[in-house]
Amino acid sequence: MSKFTIQKVSAREILDSRGNPTIEVRVDLPNKLSAKASVPSGASTGIHEALELRDKEKRYKGKGVLKAIKNVNISINRSLKGMDAREQEKIDKKLIKLDGTNNKKRLGANAILGASLACARAATTVKKQPLYDYINKSYKLQTTSYQLPIPMFNIFNGGKHADTNLDFQEFMVIPMPKKMNNKSGKKVFAENVRMGSEIFHELGRVLKERGLDTDVGNEGGYAPDICSSIQALDMIMAASTRAGYIPGVQVGLGTDVGSSVLYDKTKKKYIFRLDKAVFTNSTLTGLYHEWLREYPFVLIEDGLAEDDWEGWKELTHVLGNDLLLVGDDLFVTNKKRLQRGIKENVANSILIKPNQVGTLTETIECIKLAKKNDYKIIVSHRSGETTDDFIADLAVAAGADYIKAGAPNRGERVAKYNRLMEIEEELN
Ligand code: PGA
Ligand code: ZN
Repeated sequence: MSKFTIQKVSAREILDSRGNPTIEVRVDLPNKLSAKASVPSGASTGIHEALELRDKEKRYKGKGVLKAIKNVNISINRSLKGMDAREQEKIDKKLIKLDGTNNKKRLGANAILGASLACARAATTVKKQPLYDYINKSYKLQTTSYQLPIPMFNIFNGGKHADTNLDFQEFMVIPMPKKMNNKSGKKVFAENVRMGSEIFHELGRVLKERGLDTDVGNEGGYAPDICSSIQALDMIMAASTRAGYIPGVQVGLGTDVGSSVLYDKTKKKYIFRLDKAVFTNSTLTGLYHEWLREYPFVLIEDGLAEDDWEGWKELTHVLGNDLLLVGDDLFVTNKKRLQRGIKENVANSILIKPNQVGTLTETIECIKLAKKNDYKIIVSHRSGETTDDFIADLAVAAGADYIKAGAPNRGERVAKYNRLMEIEEELN
């Protein structure tokens, strides 16, 4: 038995940021060393994601995760006990095989991911190695020096993430890339966080002056009822300028349209209630094109629905040179779907959410494939989060271009940004 031999894998039910149950997994090693990882949960979940196992019983209106917990405590514990915690790929392969289904529906992707991430973290406790360094070296993710991702701040929440009339799920402010020079001791990430926070607070003042609500949605961004989608963009622009940042020079705009939920499959139409507008995939692409002329957009995520491959091809053809076109529900961190995207020239960036696929190894494999094909990497949280900051380390380990962790507001969102500021200090 070595210091890394897994003694026990166990799980318990905790609450996420929406107050719904989720799973926390703990891995015990010898010498009383242990580590935990918890699993987030989406609201605008893509239909091609791995399955999040819920009890579907009376408690918590069906959302309990006791079945997933039992799977960890019994079968996962039995199969990982005695393994070396550093053998992450072997561990993940074993978990995949143990589940035996193509979408992890037997054990639950939540049970499997919790175990997978907790093993990685446990392995770092023996030598007190930073998690990002451990992941980077274990998977031989070639990086000459570590680079901090650019944060994307979702400061206006809509769609399935807020009780507002805005159809667009997210409007984000994104600091424009600056030259990162660790040796200079310049804290570029921390400066970017400051920018996000100052714009966020200024936006709060803009909303108040206009008599609008300043309550926040699931990801910490404001969520007032407004007159049109454009009004939200104009207020964000005003807030950015008033906070002292030049739109288009220092700060850009992004949106996660979350369009899969706006798509009527039978009519092949995208329906935007607030703007009283109905689009085909072509006319919606046209709208994005128009917006790009008037606003400093740098990124559009899920601009079209998860299976509208034809529309995506046209969108990429028209706007792929000017914008980051990000596949979230489209790719679901899934190598096979990304492979199709690469082959068909669809999108140029990918959102990486470990719980869409269910193990650390599959997440990294997807990142590697994306990088090899020059897709930009955006590591992402979920709308239902915990204070676990694993994705911050993952982003650094993988040399991700961006991280999306919500507004610079609410504990479960800032946990990720705070961890990245800590890593930046460490690297400096
Ligand atoms: P979700 O939202 O976690 O509810 O899926 C996040 C996103 O769509 O990017
Ligand atoms: Zn998304």
